[in-house]
Amino acid sequence: MFGIDLLTGLICLVVFYARTSNGQCWSNSACIDAGQCSAKGGSSQAGLCSGGNNIRCCTCNNCMDATACSASGGTSYAGICPGAANIKCCVKGDGPSETGSYRPVNKMLTELADILRAAGLTVVEEDGWKTRGHRVMSSVKGILVHHTAGAATGEFPSKNVVKVGRSDLAGPLAQLGLGRSGTWYVIAAGLSYHAGKTIDDSIFGNANAIGIEAEATGTPVDNAGHKYWPEVQWQSYVRGVKALKEAYGIPTARVLGHREAAVPLGRKPDPNFSMDEFRAALG
Ligand SMILES: [Zn+2]
Repeated sequence: MFGIDLLTGLICLVVFYARTSNGQCWSNSACIDAGQCSAKGGSSQAGLCSGGNNIRCCTCNNCMDATACSASGGTSYAGICPGAANIKCCVKGDGPSETGSYRPVNKMLTELADILRAAGLTVVEEDGWKTRGHRVMSSVKGILVHHTAGAATGEFPSKNVVKVGRSDLAGPLAQLGLGRSGTWYVIAAGLSYHAGKTIDDSIFGNANAIGIEAEATGTPVDNAGHKYWPEVQWQSYVRGVKALKEAYGIPTARVLGHREAAVPLGRKPDPNFSMDEFRAALG
């Protein structure tokens, strides 16, 4: 469920800026695409910048000396911290315990359709998907499992929203969609706004995790088993995610339901099936 991800969690910043900025971003150079801001480790606030709806005032929550950032395993990004040139936005590194084959990709995920087809799944490629996205993906370290909370009938009535977004949040809202028949829809190859703030944005944030929006009402909110999901759709969900995690070297433990990754906990309810059962099925 895509909700108001980008806005959630920014309440403190909104209050702060309301007192200090008189409605203007702290620096014109900090007016950047919200997805770029997120990828740099910043938080975006709407209404303080001119330009498109995606151009927002970006503020870093962890400004520090770039050398110190690097020494702690982080990556520094320029342009969203005030002060001297060596003060940059530090994004937490993966740390010394990081294992697995995933690596920075910094590209569009143009192989998505082939990965799913190779797993024997039915795949529909939406026009323009290979160039659709807010920017390139920084890496592929996690997979977030969602449901759309859409209409009660139809194959994939939420498809257009996932593709183009809403008035308050520009699309794409996920790279992949899953219809009730078990058919996969490839919507975007680039960064998509599905995650919002997560327990670890370096793994589960929009820049680093693939998002899948499966068509479902999401009701009742009951996470035991998968009894409210068509079996063909649930089996396809498992098979597709299994193919993706194997293709990108993602361990099963990094396949999370949105409700497990979103912070604060309880912010998101999706998906309404057992993620333990889902992960067990991934093998
Ligand atoms: Zn969601």
